[in-house]
Amino acid sequence: PSSGYRYKRVLLKVSGEVLMGDQGFGIDIGTVESVAEAVARVARQGVEICLVIGGGNIFRGVSKAAAGLERTTADYMGMLATVMNALAMQGALEKMGVQTRVQSALTMNAVAEPYIRRRALRHLEKGRVVIFAAGVGAPFFTTDSGAALRAAEMGCDALLKGTSVDGVYSADPKKDPSATRYETLTYHDVLAKDLRVMDASAVALMRDSGIPIVVFSIREDDSLEKVLRGEGAFTVIQ
Ligand code: UDP
Repeated sequence: PSSGYRYKRVLLKVSGEVLMGDQGFGIDIGTVESVAEAVARVARQGVEICLVIGGGNIFRGVSKAAAGLERTTADYMGMLATVMNALAMQGALEKMGVQTRVQSALTMNAVAEPYIRRRALRHLEKGRVVIFAAGVGAPFFTTDSGAALRAAEMGCDALLKGTSVDGVYSADPKKDPSATRYETLTYHDVLAKDLRVMDASAVALMRDSGIPIVVFSIREDDSLEKVLRGEGAFTVIQ
């Protein structure tokens, strides 16, 4: 890619919560568009982008709303929520002229391609943004694990975790003003200190695959571009 980017191929994981913007629930199209704009900008400059969008803004298998349902049923509902978010993101990106494909871990032929690794790789080579929906396609997992799995399968140079906070802090910065941001952490630090950046299974998979995790805030318009250049605020786990 042009203009000094650190990584050629990345997987960007955006949690469902980010997409609800300032609403308490659901999809805020303005927020989806601003995330899509940031993705479009770097995709146009030749960075190969895989996207995984969570579903927590719509449904979470372990949520109160799921109480009384069998866990597996609730988790499948959560996976379906990620498909809705993926379609919203696809729509926003295509409106900006970016070619995309959605591949779902649960087959849903009328709305998305099934996940086929070699086909996804081909899309990336052709410059299409590939959005992976439905996590790993199995209950008892999360989209963090789905993101880590796809990042490993696609041979990504980094897993970028776009959140509402600009990195990993020593304490919750919203509650504790003395909290400081880590510049770097090891996979071991995250697991041993139980820092809850991502699921332990996702962190372990990135450790075993040697793929760095970069935690940054996706709320600023240019933060994705900056992170790819190694500028601005973020935490690297490696
Ligand atoms: N989910 C699942 N398997 C997966 C991915 C997701 O069962 O491989 C379900 C699970 O119930 C989860 C929900 O989908 O709570 C939404 O995903 P997640 O909580 O990871 O979304 P995020 O927190 O990123 O918005």
